[in-house]
Amino acid sequence: MTDVATLVNQGFFSREDVIQLLNADREDRSLLFAKAAEIKEKYVGNIVYFRGLIEFSNICEKNCFYCGIRKGNRNVKRYNLTDDEILNAAGFAYESNYGSVVLQGGELDSPAFSDRIERLVKGIKELSGDKLGITLSVGEQSPEVYRRWFEAGAHRYLLRIESSSRDLYYRIHPNDKTHSFERRLKALQDLKDTGYQVGTGVMIGLPFQTMEDLADDLLFMKEMDIDMCGMGPYIEHVDTPLWEFRDRLLPLEERFNLALKMIAILRLLMNNINIASATALQAIDPIGREKALKIGANIIMPNITPGAYRNDYKLYENKPCTDEEAADCKNCLEARIHMSGNKIGYNEWGDSQHFKDKH
Ligand code: SAH
Ligand code: SF4
Repeated sequence: MTDVATLVNQGFFSREDVIQLLNADREDRSLLFAKAAEIKEKYVGNIVYFRGLIEFSNICEKNCFYCGIRKGNRNVKRYNLTDDEILNAAGFAYESNYGSVVLQGGELDSPAFSDRIERLVKGIKELSGDKLGITLSVGEQSPEVYRRWFEAGAHRYLLRIESSSRDLYYRIHPNDKTHSFERRLKALQDLKDTGYQVGTGVMIGLPFQTMEDLADDLLFMKEMDIDMCGMGPYIEHVDTPLWEFRDRLLPLEERFNLALKMIAILRLLMNNINIASATALQAIDPIGREKALKIGANIIMPNITPGAYRNDYKLYENKPCTDEEAADCKNCLEARIHMSGNKIGYNEWGDSQHFKDKH
């Protein structure tokens, strides 16, 4: 077997290589992290770009087995921000020089929902004089809807594959028409065909998930030639079907370490994509997101959802900063990012270099 010191300097990684890196012990892990940091600096620089995250509604038609805001959870107080509240949050991002916003929420499939998102995208473009970049993350939609939103001004889309293994996918989702693995794959392809910068990702440390699955997830992202990635640890939620399997999960700290390795390996596999430092990292380690920025991630998504609603957007337990307001996040983050040795790309879209090189 090739030693890790040699392995990380190879330009090409087989499935076995990726599995070996995922299993790296403490010493080898440091070599992996150092190499990923070097590649990050070389290809995307030590600049972190902000995406102000607006979790605009927790109303969802789906029933993903891991998610706290799934339709079947009756213990959630459902909310839906008004258009004004959403535009005000975007205005805050603009005034704070964040450069971009993400509209994220439960998945709905209706003409009223499509119209609303289109209206909001146009509204955000208008209030910022076209300056704010817009990422959408509202699940699977038809190619026509994706096109309308793209034409309205959204230019990036996040849709995690959650797991690239069809088997595992159906262990964490109901096996029915609204949760079809094939439909999710098609949605990712539709997004690419429409012209979006496309981001995907997975949860790390799911019950039943193996190292082989995670290696395949990374190779899937490479094969899909994605532009952006957001992936983080799976964190169990009491009001979900997967809670029952909590005894077979890796301890939180190991899930966290595995998530960092996933980010570092992805940076080696795809040098110039954008990789987000997921909020779920911070749910485990108070400086988890900063650790990810040091070893490969270059995007952070400060939460700018009005504080009153944050408690109700609990995808998982222990979600950080649910008692903060947007302005608190801003100050706190600036200090944290400087500490991690990175600069902030204020007022810039910070588009995926990978996407730019392709077009
Ligand atoms: N409804 C949209 C966007 C909101 S959910 C969608 O599903 O695409 C955003 C992400 O939260 C999901 O893609 C999922 O990967 C993550 N998530 C949900 N529940 C989680 C949990 N228990 N632990 C970690 N991440 C979770
Ligand atoms: Fe809905 Fe997204 Fe949660 Fe699935 S992960 S239940 S689609 S909010």
